[in-house]
Amino acid sequence: MLLQCIGCGDCREATDYTEDPPKWGVCVARENTSGFEPFFGRGKMQIIRSLWQGKLELSKDMAEVIYQCPTCNACAEACAYDMDNVMIYEALRAELVDAGYGLEAHVPMNKAMVELLNPYQRDNKQKTAWIEKLDFKIKDASTEQAEYLYFVGCTAALTPEIQTVPINTAKIFRKLGVDFSVFGEKEVCCGSVGKRTGDLTGFNTVAIKNYELFKKSGVKKIITSCAGCYRTLKTDYSDYLEDLGIEVLHTVELVRNILNERNIQLKHLGLTATYHDPCHTGRNSGMKEGVNPLYEEPRELLSKTADIIEMKTIKQNAKCCGAGGGLKKGFPDLALEISKSRILEAEETGAEILVSICPFCYRNLFDAIKASNSSLKMVDLTELLDQALP
Ligand code: SF4
Ligand code: SF4
Repeated sequence: MLLQCIGCGDCREATDYTEDPPKWGVCVARENTSGFEPFFGRGKMQIIRSLWQGKLELSKDMAEVIYQCPTCNACAEACAYDMDNVMIYEALRAELVDAGYGLEAHVPMNKAMVELLNPYQRDNKQKTAWIEKLDFKIKDASTEQAEYLYFVGCTAALTPEIQTVPINTAKIFRKLGVDFSVFGEKEVCCGSVGKRTGDLTGFNTVAIKNYELFKKSGVKKIITSCAGCYRTLKTDYSDYLEDLGIEVLHTVELVRNILNERNIQLKHLGLTATYHDPCHTGRNSGMKEGVNPLYEEPRELLSKTADIIEMKTIKQNAKCCGAGGGLKKGFPDLALEISKSRILEAEETGAEILVSICPFCYRNLFDAIKASNSSLKMVDLTELLDQALP
């Protein structure tokens, strides 16, 4: 891949010129920093090539620049070659961590991911808090068999404002008669934060723990409402899960299939909405053979509950929310600036609500709505689905 890069700079704007007319995209790191070469794809590719050729050495200064990127992969979409830029950036991050140049801000997060089983440095017992708010019982995946394992994810389980995501997901499954279980306080972080920030030792440790848990439970289908968990389980765990014969689905896929099979109608809620494509269910889920990005599934469901007004950049060209790749932890101000620019795009549509299918996008976009004094309301699609289901 490194040798394919001809330094054309199409990834500077992240606009896909192979399309006619060109599809307008954006490198949010370049847009919200000084914009010098290393902040966008071409510069990173030159740095990595120079490292490989022995012309450059890993350093703390290099890490400061390399980590100012939410690994959204809009550069890969812009590139005319068969490129997965983020795979290469993540490999560089792993080299930086090995050499002792990882970001200090990521160390406690990745340590907690391994030792406490969540990166939020919280007691993992708190992962059951949302379950206690339900008026029905959920099967315990450690002791009871179910058709689906609902993998909740640390952000949704441990962030009070976002616990509505698992609550609504459970309510939707119950209404649709989905037989599911959860691991609750035993649920182990999927390891996404470790993988994205270059802590491969931490990532492998939690991945193996999850493999053992899944194997012991005998589960064959995993479902999640988190874009980050979805991408990690579906692509980074693919070898592990193939071995166990496990299929991974996002909630929107399952709900869409059930509604279509049983011809269930959703109630239109009389809202106008714009949809934000998470990079994890979008671009970053389209880089591996056999994995398809989820662009149409959420739109199909959303269009039945609200009128969609699309933003200027959508699907493979969608502007990133700025939270991923360890950016919110490492460079929170930059993550917020990127998110504020996404909010501006959403506001231009005139829609009342901004909808997504990722608790982490929710967090950053919610923060930007507050910081911008915007009148937009951040909503996870599961909230609308619960309201719209009979
Ligand atoms: S990564 Fe692709 S788009 Fe970017 S400079 Fe290299 S060849 Fe051009
Ligand atoms: S991953 Fe996204 S933010 Fe990072 S260099 Fe590529 S387009 Fe820019």
